[in-house]
Amino acid sequence: MASAPFIDLVAPNGVKYAQPTGLFINNEFLLSADGSSVDSIDPATEEKIATVQAASVADVDNAVKAARKALKGPSWKLLSASDRGALLYKLADLIEENRELFATIDAWDNGKTYLEALENDLVEAVGVIRYYAGWADKVFGQTISTTHQKFAYTIRQPVGVVAQIIPWNYPLSMATWKLGPALACGNTVVLKTAEQTPLSILVLGTLVKKAGFPPGVVNFLNGLGNVTGSVLVSHPLVDKVAFTGSTATASAIMGAAAKTLKNISLETGGKSPLIVFEDAEMEQAVKWSHLGIMSNQGQICTATSRILVHERVYDEFLAKFLETTKSTSKVGNQWGKDTYQGPQVSKAQYQRVLDYVNIGKGEGATLAFGGEPLNINSNGKGLYVSPTVFTNVSPSMRIWQEEVFGPFVVISKFADEDQAVALANDTTYGLGAAVFTTNLERAHRVAAEIEAGMVWVNSSQDCDPRVPFGGVKQSGIGRELGEAGLEAYTQIKAIHVNMGNRL
Ligand code: NAD
Repeated sequence: MASAPFIDLVAPNGVKYAQPTGLFINNEFLLSADGSSVDSIDPATEEKIATVQAASVADVDNAVKAARKALKGPSWKLLSASDRGALLYKLADLIEENRELFATIDAWDNGKTYLEALENDLVEAVGVIRYYAGWADKVFGQTISTTHQKFAYTIRQPVGVVAQIIPWNYPLSMATWKLGPALACGNTVVLKTAEQTPLSILVLGTLVKKAGFPPGVVNFLNGLGNVTGSVLVSHPLVDKVAFTGSTATASAIMGAAAKTLKNISLETGGKSPLIVFEDAEMEQAVKWSHLGIMSNQGQICTATSRILVHERVYDEFLAKFLETTKSTSKVGNQWGKDTYQGPQVSKAQYQRVLDYVNIGKGEGATLAFGGEPLNINSNGKGLYVSPTVFTNVSPSMRIWQEEVFGPFVVISKFADEDQAVALANDTTYGLGAAVFTTNLERAHRVAAEIEAGMVWVNSSQDCDPRVPFGGVKQSGIGRELGEAGLEAYTQIKAIHVNMGNRL
């Protein structure tokens, strides 16, 4: 397979670099076998940044076979667990050395602000790889006494070749959440980038090679979900699929993986509730609830997009929330130091937010703020929408039930704790949730009652490599991050030993 070129790019913030455009297989950047490609677009201008190769059926097969060969190859299979950890530490150091470059690329490709990418995504990406580097030589089995003559022990082995599929909202950090534990546990990986945001992952490929990972251990494919993605998850030599994205796609992936009974883990969507009780610290509740839905353009799977406020403090909360939204949510391009909200990632996402504005109006909810496309550029280009707040919302409405995945919040009232919990749980999703109260007992009681994988008490969106992350109900299966994240990437083998010949 022929090599694909690197192209010299200059980002709008002046950063110059060489962008790989190929499929990263066996530590090389390759042209696609059938000439297909995807374009990466700057959502602030709607201009093309670069064209990258897209993987055909033959390329997926090539990458999976490379990963399978590497899995059995001595340079990976016989590498000690501590040396695997050392490779991950090296990779973390290299990402950190290039953090301005990565923040530039993800801001350019995705539309998130450069500062958010630098101060949030890059810190997380480096932290997650370092965290799992430390785990590499601490994944042990057990010794289990059985009878006088016999015992058993367990070993934890890699699952095998792992297909990883990531979304576009945190391109680099989503990749690191998946690569860190998979590599720490000795698997090999074929990761598919989101078609909207492939660029930073390809640059990561250059660092994977530089860090010294053997060829085939890490492979990156670009391409559309229903082409490259579905071929990858159906490939018979893939042992596991780890996916982050929408619930609808997760369901399709479960179906495809079922045919060969692949191990799966899924992180999907949410419509996460945030409850403000009458005894809440109001300034804190307003600050965190605004951040919980309006940061990262609202494109956060755990966004606290349904706010429930006790009726006694509802008017005060709403007035302060709207004031904060007006004064804080400056919309502009990714590079402005005072920009809070960049453009939506794609035309489809931009249109989706505006469609939900019309749905909300049609359902009879009150548009309390925003709900408009914004013309930031003089030429009318740019995928900007205003932060949007709906009130007078009821649980039967689509805007209450469905994930918008944009800067779009619905706010409603409740009368007592039981009603708050019932409303919070009235959803098919169960990813995050937040509770604001100064009553310690209530905080922990409600946290236990809410059907969600994660609950924040007097906060929103905290995320830490050491703490498990994932959802219940239709928000996912399995956990990422923390020690729990290792479960997804190891399988336990039991070995029974007879110490004598008498029984
Ligand atoms: P998406 O499901 O459309 O796409 C996600 C990824 O899946 C992309 O790489 C896409 O190419 C791929 N894909 C699409 N169809 C596929 C198929 N048939 N087979 C294999 N792969 C396929 O989601 P999106 O719009 O890119 O991302 C937004 C969604 O992701 C939201 O619902 C959000 O809540 C969710 N998300 C969840 C988490 C989490 O950790 N729970 C994190 C980020 C995003």
